[in-house]
Amino acid sequence: MATLVIRTPNEFEARLQAYIFERSEEARAVRVGEKETSDQAAIVARYGDLFSRDQLDALSEAEQAAGDPDERERVYRLRKTCEEGLISAELVEKEDALENAELASTVVFRGETMPLRAAQAKLAVLTAYADREELGELAIESSAKLNDDRRDLLQATESLSAELSGEPDPVARSEDEKRISLRQLADVLADAVALLDETYAAQRELWFGRLLGPDRTPLPSSAHAAYMRRLSPLEHVYTKERATEICLDTLKELGFDLAADPNIRPDLDDRPQKTPRACVIASDPPKVVHLITRAQGGLHDYQAFLHEAGHALHYAGCDATLPYTFRRISRDHALTEIYSYIVEEISYEPEWHALHFGLSDREAHENAQATTFMNSLLFRRYTAKLHFEIDFWSRFPSDGGTPEGYAQRLTEATGLRYRPENYLADMDSGFYSADYLRAWIRNAQLREHLIGKIGENWWRSPETGQLLRDLFREGAKPTSEEIAERIGYNPLDVRPLVARFEEAASWSA
Ligand SMILES: [Zn+2]
Repeated sequence: MATLVIRTPNEFEARLQAYIFERSEEARAVRVGEKETSDQAAIVARYGDLFSRDQLDALSEAEQAAGDPDERERVYRLRKTCEEGLISAELVEKEDALENAELASTVVFRGETMPLRAAQAKLAVLTAYADREELGELAIESSAKLNDDRRDLLQATESLSAELSGEPDPVARSEDEKRISLRQLADVLADAVALLDETYAAQRELWFGRLLGPDRTPLPSSAHAAYMRRLSPLEHVYTKERATEICLDTLKELGFDLAADPNIRPDLDDRPQKTPRACVIASDPPKVVHLITRAQGGLHDYQAFLHEAGHALHYAGCDATLPYTFRRISRDHALTEIYSYIVEEISYEPEWHALHFGLSDREAHENAQATTFMNSLLFRRYTAKLHFEIDFWSRFPSDGGTPEGYAQRLTEATGLRYRPENYLADMDSGFYSADYLRAWIRNAQLREHLIGKIGENWWRSPETGQLLRDLFREGAKPTSEEIAERIGYNPLDVRPLVARFEEAASWSA
């Protein structure tokens, strides 16, 4: 057995940087379909010396001894990362096995066998309503075969987290990390959703009708969401071919030359095993930041590119002299999601549609309304997810994880039919739903702030770019709530968000 090394916070941070780099690069290779199997276990084994209970204790002591609040925060984040590393070290083989089982899962549709991921990607582009209903059911059934493995992994992860953190309640543990009240957030969001109920019902009638056509059944499957999000009937307007160029031009108007940024490495290719969900992998910010998208045609390509560009510019724009921890390790994802949301927000501006796609004022408003409607659907879906997840994790210590409430809550919130079996595949770890929802609130506040400061043209002004650049420089250090304070809002003020959805619904379409 190797000699046990106990590192100081600085030594730990330096080696952690190398570890995260390797794990990120491996995740990237699998995610983009370059590698057919995930080998995270080999990396974790190589860095086994980094994660031990003695190291965790040493970081805990250093955290308590730190006088300076920034230093205490830095060591806190290192300690939490050490905790995660210990969990990974024990469970990485199970995680690899699950990821590999997902990669190997298949669906047989109309006599053709395809990977599950390819089937999920195909749902967005199948033109016949009945085909999407059928393939959607098949994909969920194929994915649900892994539910026992998913639940085993959740249980193992949860019991280790409880033990290492000393906090047995998963909701309270997450609240400590995020430094917010999840239940208070959920309550405020429920109010916003209720205020928008009537607007949503009317918009749903209109846009389900237009986007899904005459074959639509009273309660369409959630399998149609990706198809609707692309504004598929308008695919000839929002072509796959022009997506990169238009998005790069959009960013240039803000003063960002993403294509010339040496820190950002785009991967825009199409590969069968590439996951359809776009993402950014910040392997070593600011220097190595991967931007991964898979264009399929339709407006959603543009939105996904702009969203991920926001993340990429954030990580690639952080101050290189910040300690590594404040460049890469955040308490949660709520901060970086503000920056992705505000860049994606441009695709909800009617004038952006008019400018880049040669549309009349009326068409531009119609399309911007359609896509804002899809955004409101997603907002309601995530609010329902947060409520479900709070219930799920509150029950978890006694029932070990059950689907109760999942399908009912999501179906009621959206008007799309969700299946209970999908409850585990649809859950991101660590209440990521709460981070997205905080970004929904914050983004609307930030947009209102930008309109007040810069004007209605905020989305094509280098002044917006400069304001963002200043925020990006701070890396992953501030919290989402600190950003609210700086722009003069109560973190839980949902009025700008409600007003945004109501404004778009008022345009004639
Ligand atoms: Zn994001």
